[in-house]
Amino acid sequence: MALVVCKFGGTSVATPKRIINVAKRLVAKHEAGDQLVVVVSAMGKTTDDLMKLALAVNDSPPPREIDMLLSTGEQVSMSILAMAIDALGHQSVSLTGGQVGIVTDSLHRKAKIREIKPARIRKELDEGKIVIVAGFQGITRAGDITTLGRGGSDTTAVAIAAGIKADKCEIYSDVDGVYTTDPRVVPCAKKLAVISYDEMLELAASGAGVLQMRAVEFARHFGVVIECRSAFTDEPGTIIKEVTDPMESAVISGIAFDKSEAKITIRDVPDRVGVAAQVFGTIAEVASNVDMIVQNISEDHYTDLTFTTPMQDLPRLKPVLEQLIHELGAREYLIDDSVVKISLIGAGMKTNPGIAAKMFQVLAEHDVNISLITTSSIRISVVIEGEDIQRVVKCLHTAFGLDSDKVFEETQLSAEEMKAKMEKGR
Ligand code: ASP
Ligand code: MG
Repeated sequence: MALVVCKFGGTSVATPKRIINVAKRLVAKHEAGDQLVVVVSAMGKTTDDLMKLALAVNDSPPPREIDMLLSTGEQVSMSILAMAIDALGHQSVSLTGGQVGIVTDSLHRKAKIREIKPARIRKELDEGKIVIVAGFQGITRAGDITTLGRGGSDTTAVAIAAGIKADKCEIYSDVDGVYTTDPRVVPCAKKLAVISYDEMLELAASGAGVLQMRAVEFARHFGVVIECRSAFTDEPGTIIKEVTDPMESAVISGIAFDKSEAKITIRDVPDRVGVAAQVFGTIAEVASNVDMIVQNISEDHYTDLTFTTPMQDLPRLKPVLEQLIHELGAREYLIDDSVVKISLIGAGMKTNPGIAAKMFQVLAEHDVNISLITTSSIRISVVIEGEDIQRVVKCLHTAFGLDSDKVFEETQLSAEEMKAKMEKGR
């Protein structure tokens, strides 16, 4: 008998029929003897729709109220799933984040989990029930509802798996695993059987939207083994775990790309002690995550400071930049929102020299101009401007030997067919 946490994403619970299929799948697992805690996302695009609703009445709604609103999405899917399981003659109970003791800090919309009190989940499991938990939400010590950031149900699932010491955390969605790159962009992308936490973190940080980053951090910290798999087929997915055997790790395991960041340059910043601390300290105060930072050579004691930041933070950031320009006596700031960050990720970089050189060589051969570069021990990222992403990712994918001989469209088609079949009900 295994104790398993299963998480179903928004697409997997988008319609009543899909919810019924999830219920059937869970009941079959339960009958086979597993104890199940199920974490659900909101149905389909509910979270986006709720956000639109909020913005229809207020351009910048109070974060507390946004959380109050968005958290209702998951409460719909959890109770509907519990009803579907009941209709199949099995016992289940749906519970909010607060009810299962997911205690968070009070940073609304991006709250961090501080503690999980697993007593309620244990009690319900002991009574033989399938326990369904609303993803993406928690509660502050003061009793206010919080949300964990977009995609936060992954984090709920992993945190619960850690809290109840589950044997495994299965993340079900419309993607059937972790690929060497986005198969919708490069159809010959390969599905990975295994990937390490570190590589997965770099992939997530670099724009691969398979799992929320916090979820992977949590999993690494608590040693939770994750499997990402399809909600529509029985194919094995990708296992994310600690990989220590070098035989198990590829030199390059993936290429991620990210269009969601903007490049900001502050021009003619006086080059003196403490300026970087002041700039990035002020930005951190509005909780914007700065990613790549480059300071150019200074000329006449003035320098340009360039960095990237999520596009969605720009409204919050602009007044801060205005204020900084003024305080620093800098010339101006420029925002470029047409940039793409492309990252090459692989644990094997630590032991194989020359990967960066090869990447730059490939880009040069394909006439791609690089505007920023950063690296970590297992990642090389470049920012490029106004390029055809598909062309650039494809040429790197091929150059690093990642192309699969199986073209994704075929698998994609069969997954679509599967979905259609399931929609009709089996
Ligand atoms: N429903 C939330 C979102 O769309 C949380 C999640 O799906 O994980 O971001
Ligand atoms: Mg989602």
